[in-house]
Amino acid sequence: MKKLGQHFLVDRRVLGRIGDYASLAEKDRVLEIGPGTGNLTEVLSARAGTVFAIEVDPNLASSLEGRFPNVQVIRGDALRVRLPDYNKIISNLPYQISSKITFRLLERPFDLAVLMYQREFAERMVASSGTKDYGRLTLNVTLRAEAEILERVPRGAFRPMPQVESAIVRLQPRENRIPVDEKVFDDLTRGIFSMRRKKVKTSLAAMKVSSDVLSRIDPDLLERRPQELSLEDVVDLAKAISGM
Ligand code: SAM
Repeated sequence: MKKLGQHFLVDRRVLGRIGDYASLAEKDRVLEIGPGTGNLTEVLSARAGTVFAIEVDPNLASSLEGRFPNVQVIRGDALRVRLPDYNKIISNLPYQISSKITFRLLERPFDLAVLMYQREFAERMVASSGTKDYGRLTLNVTLRAEAEILERVPRGAFRPMPQVESAIVRLQPRENRIPVDEKVFDDLTRGIFSMRRKKVKTSLAAMKVSSDVLSRIDPDLLERRPQELSLEDVVDLAKAISGM
């Protein structure tokens, strides 16, 4: 089914490397989103203690049930089901839910995630300031975790072959959450990056940020364009706006 992103990873070397990146051991309880035909599930089940595999397609879920003794299949939509107790997340994600599932997962504690995304999405997650890919996604991810591309994966590694390239990303949650109002932070990033070429002071005025708040912000930040702001700069702006 096209809308479920059913492109199965068949390259055994890539499957093995995903297992390697996650340094799995018997003590690990792995969450897999979208096990599909079980190609990655097989690698995970051989290397981890327990695997929880959430699959929305009832036919695929049925064919996985009972196939591996340490794999518990959870039927349903990964954006809605109650999540089990896991410490690592390893998945070849359905790309149409990349953003929503990533932020759902980042709300809960975990040790490590190794996730396959569409390549462009992955590049936006890890982008450096000053580049065209740097923006709202980069900042919302890096507020919560360190993100790194481990490898780019060509279309030929999947069947049926998708139209887009892929990349494997490692996410390591920050040990200490940065204290900031996350709703204000996200509204701010959406606002300033929707006007990428404008200076921050122009965007904040358009967002109806009061002159009182503007007067409390470092004037140097107000003169910059959004892609020139570091994570810490955006956190400072969000704190000024929320009065923290
Ligand atoms: N992990 C397998 C592999 O690497 O070969 C399959 C990956 S395939 C890209 C994505 C899988 O996610 C499909 O099996 C699809 O049915 C499932 N899926 C799509 N949307 C889902 C959702 N919202 N919740 C759970 N599974 C979903």
